[in-house]
Amino acid sequence: MSTALPEHPAAWQFCPRCQKELPIASARADCPECGGLLEVRHRPPQAREEALRSLFARRRGRADPLDASGVWRFRELVLPDAGAEVVTYPEGNTPLLQRAAIGRFAGVEALFAKHEGHNPTGSFKDRGMTVGITQAKRIGAREPADRRALEQWRVALRVRHDFRAGGSRGEREARRLSPQFH
Ligand SMILES: [Zn+2]
Repeated sequence: MSTALPEHPAAWQFCPRCQKELPIASARADCPECGGLLEVRHRPPQAREEALRSLFARRRGRADPLDASGVWRFRELVLPDAGAEVVTYPEGNTPLLQRAAIGRFAGVEALFAKHEGHNPTGSFKDRGMTVGITQAKRIGAREPADRRALEQWRVALRVRHDFRAGGSRGEREARRLSPQFH
């Protein structure tokens, strides 16, 4: 039986199989009606098209942690109501590097590679993990269920702690603890 929320908040969870809707803060991963996998939906942002692109561009380079994140700079399209609960390093905003030799090999005149190793734990997965851990915090989870996510987050915390202390030991530690992420 489909059950819609009386009024859509900024974000909610949705079962594509039976159309049941749950609050975004629900800790369930599956639909209580049919067992389907829930997905997150949110209202479209108020700003659209050029206004939205302009908003994202203005945030680039700002010191505010949400704006400095290459994920949360686009928060209207990620998880619009996460607000102060966002857990961020920040991640993303990794450089695009032109690689002429690879371009010649691939037959592409101007080939650029996105260097995701510049993320806090050296992995593109930080982009997803910042959203996952933020949502885990919102529902009051004590730790991620996914072991890889848990390990990666522990590494991120160690790196952050070490960088705040002014050293690079955290980065070496991250590579030692989780070579599979590199
Ligand atoms: Zn369902």
